[in-house]
Amino acid sequence: KAKYKGKNRYEIYHRHLGIAVKEELQIKQALYYALENEEFVLFYQPQVCENDSTVIGYEALLRWSHPEYGLLTPDKFIEIAENSGFIIPMGEWVLKESCRQLKEWQEFYGRHELKVSVNLSAQQFKDRYLDDKILMAVEEAGLTPKHLVIEITESMVLEDFKGSVKVLDSLRKRGVEVHLDDFGTGYSSLNYLSKLPVDTIKIDKSFVWNIGKTEQDGAIVRAIIAMAENLGMKVIAEGVESKEQLEYLKQTGCHLYQGFYYSKPAPPVGVVVY
Ligand code: C2E
Ligand code: MG
Ligand code: MG
Ligand code: MG
Repeated sequence: KAKYKGKNRYEIYHRHLGIAVKEELQIKQALYYALENEEFVLFYQPQVCENDSTVIGYEALLRWSHPEYGLLTPDKFIEIAENSGFIIPMGEWVLKESCRQLKEWQEFYGRHELKVSVNLSAQQFKDRYLDDKILMAVEEAGLTPKHLVIEITESMVLEDFKGSVKVLDSLRKRGVEVHLDDFGTGYSSLNYLSKLPVDTIKIDKSFVWNIGKTEQDGAIVRAIIAMAENLGMKVIAEGVESKEQLEYLKQTGCHLYQGFYYSKPAPPVGVVVY
C-alpha cells in the first residue's frame, strides 16, 4: 500500500512539473507572437510634484493583453521574457512606444516639460547597444534625451558596479535621467550609493505602506530622504495610497509622489494631466 501511495505521489508531482514546463514553453512562444500581433500595451501612472500640484511625468508600465487570459501584469511574464532573451525586443518596443506616446501628450497638452519613465531589465542594462537604442527611440519620437527617464534597480548595478557607472555616466551626459527603483529592498550600501550616478531615488512602496504602522519604517523613510538630500539626489515616494501617508511624507521633506492615491496605472485614454 505504501508503495502504491509513493508511486502515485510521484506521478502527481511529475505531472505537475510537466504542466509547469509546458506552460512556460507556451508563454515563451506566445510572447513572440504577442509582439508581432501588437498584444502589448503600456499603462501610465502619473508622478506628481506636491510643491505646485503638477504632474511632472509618467511611468510606463507594461501589460499584455492576452487573447485568452486577459490583461496580464509583468509578474506573469517578465521573468520568462528575461530568461529567454525576449526581454530585449520587448524592451525596445517599450522604449519606442513610451516615447511616441509622450510626444503625443506633450503636443496635445502643450506641456513640453513632461517626461516618461521606463523600467529597464537586467538584460537590457547589459546590452552594449543600450545607449544607441535609447537615443534612437528618443530621436525617432522627436523628443530630446532629457524627456526620458530610465529606472534601474540596485541589484542591476551590483553585478558590475564599475561597468554600470560607465553606462549611467554616458547616458546622463547625454541628458537621460536615471532613477533608482525599489530603493531600500536591495543590498543598499551607503558607500556605493554615494558613487552611483543617479538623479532620483524611488522609495520602495513597502516602506510607504508601513508608515504609521511601525516606527522603524517611519525612521527608514526619514533616513532615506535625509540621505538623498545630502547626496544631492531627489526622492520619489512610490505606492502612496492614502492621505495619511502623503502628509507624513510631506512633513519629512519629500516632494515627488506616485501611487494609487493620485491614480492607478491607466491606458493612455484614461491618463490624468494636471
Ligand atoms: P515598479 O517599477 O516598481 O513599478 C511600480 C509598481 O507598483 C507597478 O506594478 C504599479 O502598478 C504598482 N503601484 C504603483 N502605485 C501603487 C499603489 O499605490 N499601490 C499598489 N498596490 N501598487 C502600486 P506593475 O505595473 O504590476 O509592475 C510591476 C513591476 O514590473 C514594476 O515595478 C517593474 O519592475 C516591472 N515592469 C513594469 N513594466 C516594465 C517594463 O516595461 N519593462 C521591464 N523590464 N519591467 C517592467
Ligand atoms: Mg519602476
Ligand atoms: Mg518600484
Ligand atoms: Mg521594480
